[in-house]
Parts: sequence; structure tokens; C-alpha cells
Amino acid sequence: MAKIDRKLCESVNDCPENATCIGICPLNVIRNVNNMIIIGTLCVDCGECVQICPKKAISI
Ligand code: SF4
Ligand code: SF4
Repeated sequence: MAKIDRKLCESVNDCPENATCIGICPLNVIRNVNNMIIIGTLCVDCGECVQICPKKAISI
């Protein structure tokens, strides 16, 4: 399951790419909850969000 490093992505509002990770997930399991990225347990490790994140804040 993909993991988010909150030291690298503290706030969705500060994302230089307007939280592109949310829209790129084919399973729609990435959500913005109270300005924090939450990755749901149905993640299939496809890696799309890892590639797109400008801060390299997501890893598998
Ligand atoms: S793309 Fe990266 S920096 Fe932007 S909101 Fe998503 S995880 Fe955070
Ligand atoms: S690795 Fe793929 S399935 Fe998992 S959260 Fe990222 S984009 Fe979605």
C-alpha cells in the first residue's frame, strides 16, 4: 500500500501541483481530509501517485 510522508507533504494547500495525486489514482483511493492526504487501504500499488508527486512524498 502506498504511504504518504507527512514531513514532505504537510498540507494539501501547499502542494505545488494542486494535489494532482488525488485525480491520478485509478481507484480513487487518495482523498483530501482536513487538508491532509489520506491513502485508502484499497490501493493496489500501481505507482501512478508516486510518479506524479512533485515532492516525492508518496512511496510504495
Ligand atoms: S501530489 Fe504530492 S505534494 Fe501534492 S498533495 Fe499529493 S502527495 Fe502532497
Ligand atoms: S499507488 Fe496507485 S492505487 Fe495506490 S494510491 Fe497511488 S495511484 Fe492509487
